[in-house]
Parts: sequence; structure tokens; C-alpha cells
Amino acid sequence: MEEKPLHVIVVGAGLAGLAIAHGLRKHSISCQLVDRETTPRDRNWGITLSWALPLLEGLLPPDLVARLQDCQPDTSLPVASAGEQGVLIRDGATGAIKIRVLYPDGVRRMQIQKTKRILSSGLNLQHGKKLLDLTYDTLDQATAHFADGTSETGNVVVGADGGSSQVRRCLLGEEAAAQEVLPYAFMNFPFTLPADKARWLDSVMNPSVDVAPHPKSMYMGLFLLDKPDLERPTTWVFYVLVTWPIASEEDEVNSENRLERLRAHMEGWADPYKSVVEWLADDITIGADQLRIWHPKKWDNQDGRATLAGDAAHSMTFHRGQGGNLAIKDADEFVKRMVDVKEGRLSLKDAMDEYDKGVVARGEEVEISRLQAAAFHDYENFDNSPVFKMGIKPAGS
Ligand SMILES: Cc1cc2nc3c(=O)[nH]c(=O)nc-3n(C[C@H](O)[C@H](O)[C@H](O)COP(=O)(O)OP(=O)(O)OC[C@H]3O[C@@H](n4cnc5c(N)ncnc54)[C@H](O)[C@@H]3O)c2cc1C
Repeated sequence: MEEKPLHVIVVGAGLAGLAIAHGLRKHSISCQLVDRETTPRDRNWGITLSWALPLLEGLLPPDLVARLQDCQPDTSLPVASAGEQGVLIRDGATGAIKIRVLYPDGVRRMQIQKTKRILSSGLNLQHGKKLLDLTYDTLDQATAHFADGTSETGNVVVGADGGSSQVRRCLLGEEAAAQEVLPYAFMNFPFTLPADKARWLDSVMNPSVDVAPHPKSMYMGLFLLDKPDLERPTTWVFYVLVTWPIASEEDEVNSENRLERLRAHMEGWADPYKSVVEWLADDITIGADQLRIWHPKKWDNQDGRATLAGDAAHSMTFHRGQGGNLAIKDADEFVKRMVDVKEGRLSLKDAMDEYDKGVVARGEEVEISRLQAAAFHDYENFDNSPVFKMGIKPAGS
């Protein structure tokens, strides 16, 4: 079987890009990974990797599989017990459990910033490379052009550059690539607490996901972001995710009095959510945020020379916890198809056509997650929502 020399350019060193680069490295396929960041973004959150965890473990080298525990917000939380305790959904008005979505195979919480830092080890990764444009030549190659004036040429460029992907804009144009902004106020911010309160919250909160719909059409979740010192609760960092349908001029313009607006929405909430919002420091920083999605549309992959993966290919809300899992699934499929090309089983065009078909099909989750987001704000009908029917399994399984 003829082996083809291949060079892959991966744009974006988030979950999808890192997983692709490791998978290619495992199969000795040449790869240049680039990211626009020079320092980590200030935004941070945790994700629950469930069904895609074995895929990630298959893509990583053994030394990094052994370090996945260090990527967790709480490095002492075993994967098995996180799965046994599952995703907890309470009634926001009473605090009572509505449903516990179990995942007996185990789930791993992963903190995004730690994950990006740890999984970038051992890769050919260049920072400060902001992709601006793609061009294609007559030698069946693609060139990625960066803001610093440099470029990189290879057989295929994969855009793993997140929800507002520039690679997607290059492939589809501004209009078709533009994200849709959902009509919800959205806040995502970290906080710390005095030792006794931090210990209390840690003891009552579900360790992976603890979320609730409230009859007043509102969603709130409490999560752990980091436990830098397991013995010192004042170092523990938690975070809140909260969404409600935009109802006022202040929500519409996303005015900066975010804590005031959040507190004005808290009447009728039960613990642990109620106390947590009361205890927040009055000068806490809550940045501007929006819920943005993008439903995949077929793109021209330029004879197999350019494609998309992860949020670049399908950006969704977090309400069913699927975006990161799908980013890993895309990575796994991309690597498999590139191995098919390398080993002469498929042409690059056929391999990328097949890969793209799968990515677009998996993008049905964008709509499922949008429905789940809507259901979290529709208390009466919440029990008919996708998490009740599908849990946190992938669509179509
Ligand atoms: C609050 C929250 C909770 C979530 N919870 C879950 C969960 O429980 N389970 C789950 O599965 N998913 C969850 N997700 C979704 C998950 O985080 C994303 O789907 C996943 O991180 C996407 O990874 P990615 O690699 O596609 O994109 P990203 O992580 O966004 O990475 C993109 C990378 O591309 C780089 N980049 C961007 N533009 C350029 C450019 N022009 N040139 C070069 N580099 C560029 C960026 O710097 C970045 O490093 C959640 C998301 C949020 C926001």
C-alpha cells in the first residue's frame, strides 16, 4: 500500500485542535498546530466529558492520559464517582432533585484552561498565529495566512478555531458563517467564599453538574472551577452559569450592572443557588457574554484541502453538555480519515467529503441543545426536554 506524505495545518489549539494534533502525531502524520493566543484568555469554565472520554484517551499519548486527572477542577474527584453522581437537575424553587442523569461509565470534569495547558505538551504548537485567510494553489495545497505576515502551506487546513471561526468565514463567507445570538441574558463568572461557606457549598453541590430550571423562566447552575489547595477552602473557585430570556432594555443592551440584575431575578430561588448569590462580593466582576450558536451548512472543502472541527463546525449552547464531546468525536473521525489517506485507502478529497458529511450530521445537536436551552426556561414542559429523553448521550445513539 502506497504511503502518502501529508502535512496538516490545524488552526486553533482548543479541545478539538489539541486532540487532532495528538492523534496525527500518534500516526506519524506531520502537523503544524497554531493558535492566535499569546497568553491564555481570561475566560474559564469546566466541561463534562462523558461519551467522548474514551475517544480522547485513544488520541492522546499514554503520558498525557495519565495527566487527565490534573486537568480536572478537583483533581481528587474519581471519574467513576463523578459518573455515579451524574448530572444533577434540581427544581430551582425548592432545591428538590428533579432528575439525576447518570453516566455509569464515568465522566471527567475538565477545566478548559488547565486542559489547554496540559494537553499542549509534546506538540508542534505556535502561539501568536492569528489566521486571516486561506489560499489554494495548483499543487493541490492550501496556505494559511496569519496576521503577523507569516504563512504555512500544507495538504489540508482544519479550522478548529472555535465558535466565531475565521476558517469558517473563509470557507462560507461572512453572512453564511455568522453566528445566531439567542435571546437570553447570560452570565458566567467565578467566585470564592469564606472557608465555612465554601465548605458548605462543596458539601451540598453535586460534584460535576448542579443545575436548575426555575418556574420564573430562568436557568442557573453551580460548578467548581478549581481547587488549587484541597485543604484550604478559601482557595476554591466556583462559578455560576445563569440564563433568562431577555425581558428588559438593560438585558437587551447587556448593561454593566450585572450583579444587580442577577440579584433582582433571585426572588423565589432555593438553596444552594439563593445563598450563593447573596454571598457574592458586591464588587465581583461579571463580564459581558452572549449565547451564540451556528448550525452547520455544507461548505466547499476545496477538493479536501480545508475543513472544520469542533465549535467552528457546530457551535451550541452548554445546556446539554455536548459541544466538547462532539469536538473530540470530530477529532477522532478526522484523524481516522487522514490515516486512510496516508495508507492509500482514500484520496484526500474522498476522505474529507466523508468526514464533512459526518460533521454536518453531528451538527443536529445544535438544534437539540437549543431546544434544551429553551426547555430550561419553560418549567411546565421541562420534563419533555431532550435530557429527559436522551440523557447526555449523543444524538442518534
Ligand atoms: C460555560 C460552558 C460550559 C460548557 N460545558 C460543556 C460540557 O459540560 N460538556 C461539553 O461537552 N461541552 C461543554 N461546553 C462546550 C465546550 O467547551 C466547547 O464545545 C469546546 O471547548 C469547543 O472546543 P473547540 O476546540 O472547538 O473550540 P475552542 O475551545 O473555542 O478553541 C478554539 C481555539 O482557536 C483559537 N482561535 C480562534 N480564532 C483563531 C484564529 N483566527 N487564528 C488562530 N487561532 C484561533 C482560540 O484561541 C482557541 O484556542 C461548554 C461551553 C461553555 C462556554
